[in-house]
Amino acid sequence: MSGGEGEAVREELLRTIRAEIERNRPVLTGVVEKLFAMPELSGEERLACRLLSGIFRDAGFAVISQFEEWPTAFRAELTINGGGPAVGFICEYDALPDIGHGCGHNVIAAMGVGAALGLRAALSATGHGGRIVVFGTPAEEQSGAKVGMAARGWFDGLAAVMMVHPESYTHSSGASLAMEALEFAFSGRSCHAASAPEKGINALDAVQLTFAGINALRQHILPTARIHGIVAEGGKAPNVVPDYASARFYVRTTRDAYLRELSERVKNCARGAALMTGCQLAISNYEASYRDMNTNRTLSDRFDANLLAAGERLVRPPRDSFGSIDMGDVSYRAPAIHPYISITEDLPVRGHSRDFAAATLRPPALAAMERAATAMAMTGWDVISDQQLRQSVLDEFRRLQEEAG
Ligand SMILES: [Zn+2]
Ligand SMILES: [Zn+2]
Repeated sequence: MSGGEGEAVREELLRTIRAEIERNRPVLTGVVEKLFAMPELSGEERLACRLLSGIFRDAGFAVISQFEEWPTAFRAELTINGGGPAVGFICEYDALPDIGHGCGHNVIAAMGVGAALGLRAALSATGHGGRIVVFGTPAEEQSGAKVGMAARGWFDGLAAVMMVHPESYTHSSGASLAMEALEFAFSGRSCHAASAPEKGINALDAVQLTFAGINALRQHILPTARIHGIVAEGGKAPNVVPDYASARFYVRTTRDAYLRELSERVKNCARGAALMTGCQLAISNYEASYRDMNTNRTLSDRFDANLLAAGERLVRPPRDSFGSIDMGDVSYRAPAIHPYISITEDLPVRGHSRDFAAATLRPPALAAMERAATAMAMTGWDVISDQQLRQSVLDEFRRLQEEAG
């Protein structure tokens, strides 16, 4: 599509999507408010899963839920006009202990509903064939359910997959750190620390030497990488040489390929410590490891333009400080974006706080939720209807996959 005629069609569609989202305002606001009122922790989001599944079922989507490993996940799918390219939206809905929806996942859930309904309206209005797939992904705050879902191929074959996270400021989709959660458990031999120390094999020494090794390693790693750890178990009493001690680390890098290299070097520190002390070493992952977020820039640029068209005043560049998100694994399976939208009209409110949870109920958050849903729906329509755009998005995705190896 090109020229003025194409633009006129897109403007008309933007109006169609907006009108559909406005028509569903009670449902969307209801999602934000109901989840706020009944916050559920990671993996326990039974009410949220039931509420959202019900909304999609009522809207004519085929919904499956209660998967063995993720009883609070769901997948809602709608094929329109005979089918075609598939676009995915993600609903998160877990809350934080004591704080409730201090990360704003109640707003993310509503955005996913709004985007799906908006895209359905656009496809119905234009006669374009396509598929809309909504993923209810629980437990983002704790175990990162998307990691396992991505590994199972849930996101494979999607032309695009999107979610928008609430924040104090609006930022274009950027990067996140790949992360491996490593546990080193050392087993030695206990003995009396004063009367027979020569009989002992000190597991705590192995932990300390591991830290020493990693601290030396730190000088020779990329400045963007992070290694941080704790002593999880360090013995029971000073007069007993510890026969067991363990340490837990997060190793984080901007690129998945470098993570594998760096994790190996970190493991070698522990292996060296085991050798020095004579301990037995067991290495394990105590949490799911995350891949880095590969933002699809072509998709992201289109989304940002659509967000501005939907009424957002300013889209800032990607944030330059970041943690690890389970959307990273999704981004290795399909072209993906994970931008941030201001729900506070650019007033800085700390994430993971009660204040941020309270902000999700106020008019600026609800308006931002509708803008983000509109922009996601519009971007979905662009990807489905514009073959050239879809190909550029796919080409970029394939390049990233090749780089990642
Ligand atoms: Zn969070
Ligand atoms: Zn979050």
